[in-house]
Amino acid sequence: MASQPVAFRAERISGWGMSVGGPGRVARPTTAAEVEVAMALVADAHGSLALRGAGCSYGDASLNTAGYVLDTSGMTRFLHFDPERGLVTVEPGVTIRELWRQVIASGWWPPVVPGTIAVSVGGAASLNIHGKNNFAVGSFGEHVQSFVLQTATGSVLRCSREEHADVFHAAIGGFGMLGCFVELTLRMKRVHSGRLRVSAIVARDLAHNLQLLEDLKGEADYLVSWIDLHRRGAALGRGLLHRANYLHPGEDPEGARFLDPMLQDVPATLFRVVPKGWIWPGMWLAMHGGATPLVNRARFLAGRGESNRSPYLQTHGAFHFLLDYVPRWHWMTKPGGLIQFQPFVPQPQGEAVLRRLIERCQQAGMVAYLAVLKRHRPDPFLMTHALDGYSLAMDFAVSRDRSKRDALWRLCQEMAEVVLAAGGRFYYAKDAVLEASSFARIHGEATVAAFRALKQRLDPRRVLQTDLSRRMGV
Ligand SMILES: Cc1cc2nc3c(=O)[nH]c(=O)nc-3n(C[C@H](O)[C@H](O)[C@H](O)COP(=O)(O)OP(=O)(O)OC[C@H]3O[C@@H](n4cnc5c(N)ncnc54)[C@H](O)[C@@H]3O)c2cc1C
Repeated sequence: MASQPVAFRAERISGWGMSVGGPGRVARPTTAAEVEVAMALVADAHGSLALRGAGCSYGDASLNTAGYVLDTSGMTRFLHFDPERGLVTVEPGVTIRELWRQVIASGWWPPVVPGTIAVSVGGAASLNIHGKNNFAVGSFGEHVQSFVLQTATGSVLRCSREEHADVFHAAIGGFGMLGCFVELTLRMKRVHSGRLRVSAIVARDLAHNLQLLEDLKGEADYLVSWIDLHRRGAALGRGLLHRANYLHPGEDPEGARFLDPMLQDVPATLFRVVPKGWIWPGMWLAMHGGATPLVNRARFLAGRGESNRSPYLQTHGAFHFLLDYVPRWHWMTKPGGLIQFQPFVPQPQGEAVLRRLIERCQQAGMVAYLAVLKRHRPDPFLMTHALDGYSLAMDFAVSRDRSKRDALWRLCQEMAEVVLAAGGRFYYAKDAVLEASSFARIHGEATVAAFRALKQRLDPRRVLQTDLSRRMGV
């Protein structure tokens, strides 16, 4: 490929949670040729390079403190779309929002989406993200047909289940360690309406919450449960479960109209009046004024009303991207930011382990202000975090007070020990606290050895590194 000029500039970059970050030298390529040149520049300088998409990982997955960073969010071209087969080929910086906006009018929807539209396709493949339908359709990677990977040695590999299958199954979920995706071909899901049928169901306690997931996983297309972690005793683990199903052809008289992308975006105002940019300062006051338990209680009570009104029809966008309703909501955790702790626990140990974690947080007086429970299934990727069981994503505000911050880290490490002892796993998009000793315990010695062998083959000079990879001793 012809060389293009690529400039690295000094910047401070942080994880989405704002609790970790540091200085780096960042370049923003717009073509695959520029990616190749940038990787060669860093390799020749004996430097280290982190790949970065939209920067939505909560922790340090796309940081490289004092090193180089290749931000691919400017690679946003749609290279091909086959509206008959629902196959789309894109550059890695295309976001989930741009993806569904491109395909929905033809009756397609990305089969796996995260809780925010901002994530890039490259970042989604690299950490092999999951949606609220992980139990039913698996992870993002299961819907990737093929990709083109630029490696740090200068080779370009076209990978699929048939071609370079080992690299295909390791680079998806390989947290940017094996090469840079410069093109991805994804399979979309056929939809007959721009809306879903949604029901809210009140869960009395943790056991009920988990039982609902088991009872409904054979019939629902999406399941996600919010938990109020402040409740104790008989109400421990109570919350509100949302179930959603696709609509069959002809079921929604207005289904075709809602395939208009303009009707999928979350509205810019609250109750059509209040500009949403004004909301996060109110949330900041609530959080810093200690009102989180009250807010959780109010959410639960409101959920009862929602349950009585169920089922109702809701656009795909409104159902999936609830977190985008309030722009910059995470700023309510300033100045310390937030971390998310998301353990994955095997189904048989689910209730006992999750109960123990919740009780431990309550004893320590550090209760997550937001907690989301999901059902998962295993997938065929080498470095997978998925398993047949549950995950509980817990968001903790981080204090600027060093001793309080250290106490939170210790609590999470203590909880990680409980999860690992039960055969559980962790998800690097959400992690900030794990230590190197966890790496082999999560994945197993043989898997780690296979991953290291691939790293040695594709990146022998260890150009691709991140703060996360160094923390995990990769
Ligand atoms: C509000 C919010 C809600 C979320 N909800 C969910 C959810 O429901 N489910 C879920 O699974 N995740 C969720 N996430 C996490 C998010 O989906 C992942 O962190 C995702 O990987 C972020 O993608 P990104 O484009 O921001 O990549 P970054 O965070 O910038 O990078 C992520 C990883 O991808 C690598 N990478 C980036 N670009 C490339 C490339 N071109 N080639 C190779 N590697 C690359 C990086 O090195 C890094 O390891 C959520 C995040 C937020 C902020």
